[in-house]
Amino acid sequence: MNRVRLLVFNAALGPLDYRVPDGMTVEPGSVVVAPLGPRQIIGIVWEEERLPTEPVPDSKLRPLLEVLPVPPIRSELRRLIEWTADYYCAPLTAVARMVISSGGALRGPATITEYRLSGGMPERMTPKRELAMAALEGEQATIRELAEIAGVSDAVLRGLVNQGALEPVVVDCDRPYPRANAGHATVDLSEEQQAVSARLVEAVEAEEFAPFLLDGVTGSGKTETYFEPMAAALRADRQVLVLLPEIALTENFLRRFEERFGAPPIVWHSSLKSTERRRAWRAIASGEAQVVVGARSALFLPYANLGLIVVDEAHEISFKQDDGVRYNARDVAVMRARFEKIPVVLASATPALESLQMAESGIYEKLDLPSRYGGATLPEIRLLNLTEEPPEKGRWLAPELARELFARLERGEQSLLFLNRRGYAPLTLCRNCGYRFECSNCSAWLVEHRFSQRLACHHCGHEERVPEACPECAEPDCLVACGPGVERIADEVAEIMPEARVAVVTSDTLNSPEKAAAFVAQAEAKAIDVIVGTQLVTKGFHFPELTLVGVVDADLGLEGGDLRAAERTYQQVAQVAGRAGRGAKPGTVLIQTRHPDAPVIEALAAGDRDAFYEAETEARRHAGAPPFGRWAAIIVSSEDENEAREAARMIGGTQPRVKDIAILGPAPAPMSLLRGRYRYRLLINARRSAQVQDVIRDWLGKLEFPRGVRVSVDIDPYSFV
Ligand code: ADP
Ligand code: ZN
Repeated sequence: MNRVRLLVFNAALGPLDYRVPDGMTVEPGSVVVAPLGPRQIIGIVWEEERLPTEPVPDSKLRPLLEVLPVPPIRSELRRLIEWTADYYCAPLTAVARMVISSGGALRGPATITEYRLSGGMPERMTPKRELAMAALEGEQATIRELAEIAGVSDAVLRGLVNQGALEPVVVDCDRPYPRANAGHATVDLSEEQQAVSARLVEAVEAEEFAPFLLDGVTGSGKTETYFEPMAAALRADRQVLVLLPEIALTENFLRRFEERFGAPPIVWHSSLKSTERRRAWRAIASGEAQVVVGARSALFLPYANLGLIVVDEAHEISFKQDDGVRYNARDVAVMRARFEKIPVVLASATPALESLQMAESGIYEKLDLPSRYGGATLPEIRLLNLTEEPPEKGRWLAPELARELFARLERGEQSLLFLNRRGYAPLTLCRNCGYRFECSNCSAWLVEHRFSQRLACHHCGHEERVPEACPECAEPDCLVACGPGVERIADEVAEIMPEARVAVVTSDTLNSPEKAAAFVAQAEAKAIDVIVGTQLVTKGFHFPELTLVGVVDADLGLEGGDLRAAERTYQQVAQVAGRAGRGAKPGTVLIQTRHPDAPVIEALAAGDRDAFYEAETEARRHAGAPPFGRWAAIIVSSEDENEAREAARMIGGTQPRVKDIAILGPAPAPMSLLRGRYRYRLLINARRSAQVQDVIRDWLGKLEFPRGVRVSVDIDPYSFV
């Protein structure tokens, strides 16, 4: 081949053709460096016929500069990149970037100099140096990464290097990982688990595409069960990918994995250091990496020899990415398995309706684990009707819930209170003039966080100090907190039971694997009596002494315009209920609600999952919602409100009239201002048979927008804000 077509890493450019100089060999998938004007650009060699563009005459072609020392991107993955771009209406380059997600990995073998505390003291101690040294205890990383960890400038750290307080360590970037051993410590499976695991092992050995829905109640031992097919893949020398929805959950998984396989898996998530990222990427691409556990971004890595994909807690909405390429990792995982011709397991106690439907129609094979492992019983569930038995004024826990908490404390058992709201109070206002604290970048209230004494926006991250006086009327000490967040519930628990040890668990407090590990250790050592947490505590954790779960506000999730609100409420409450009574002692779940008659609440109380799914299925069918119809959204935004509105009007004004597709809007988005951008949206509701993506591509492809306008397409959206 002496000319090639490249998919280049520049969203503004289409495919580009180059000449292959004598002596250079490339093949489809090769990652190469090419000249672009005076600069250089990285690209992937692609099949010409799959990347149509205006042909360039041979005489005008410039030669490629270099083939990078990484294995070519395999055709299975190239097909997945194309499918993802096509399905989600995203640029190919944007998807390909998720594959080449470590720049450093593209360079050959290398060493890197990292630094760590030497134990020595600098000659001259300054407050900054002191701060930095305290923060760097136990850390080893590059200067830039250490500067980030310590929150000081590179210069401060260079000073510490010169003074001998930080010492250099030369590290081999590609040092091998410890090997997992398929037979390290086997587990005796129950009969029920054994049947499921045998079917999955068989599928791994068959080396063919096979999608499974592993539907197992909380505490049924889904993890133990899918460890066996993982071992089968390892025995066959094939790689395994496990996707988890939340990095805070990996801790528990890592420990169990290491017990079973004798070595930790390779972890992949967005906050890895660049050296760890490079090391993992190269090990994955070379085939050396055996098992990778990661967030959704691990799905697009260039596995050399994948043999099995597991998506745990597959119903979780955090598998849906809501910026950049708006894809759903659960669905793309199934596509990846199809291209790789391997089995994929979607595991959940509360599967998404879409997944259940796929099982019902025979596309996914359903495997069931209907009972808890070791004879533990499912918890007893009771509703607390807040309109009949309200909490005392200024409190949020009904008397009965308070009594039950107290009884647990007396018996030395643990309780968990669930409220999906971070911070102290969702709204702060001035008692004097009624002023409400609102984010200046978003249409959202600022949430008070008492621990950090800040008002924070949960959408853009904006923070300000809680002022002493009202910024509007200048009245001092007049701010009131409205409504509860987890911090406020924790305060209330401390008021009712001053001797109880309370832990608040949210993404604010459990923001690193270390903190997650520390929390789990404390809870297991019974150093915590009451856990107050957000959705982060609803899944994954297994605390045998936890016998009471209180759902502070079951109605919360039903508010707002989310299409899947009922399903989400059902899943969250069922999952958090699943934390109770996992050991020998039976569990109790108390659900506080103002709407005990709402179908989803009734189904929860009756423990009647089938009834819930049936009612929800009918509602979706009636609304033409997924899985019976399809949704797509077009979101238009700009920093300029007029520009955003005009662009949205133009899109609305040129909407195609297509059979089986209804287009609603444009209308201001529920979050009409987000991170400083004004937003409008259009919603598309289509029959399953309609070619929604083609229609959208045709429609938007003909329009031109001012530079400040961003138009993004969200296929199968989850968030309707
Ligand atoms: P799930 O993910 O289905 O909620 P887990 O996989 O967390 O359930 O299992 C619940 C608990 O039961 C865990 O502590 C797990 O180690 C234990 N367990 C499950 N199956 C077995 C088994 N076959 N042998 C020993 N322990 C098991
Ligand atoms: Zn904001």
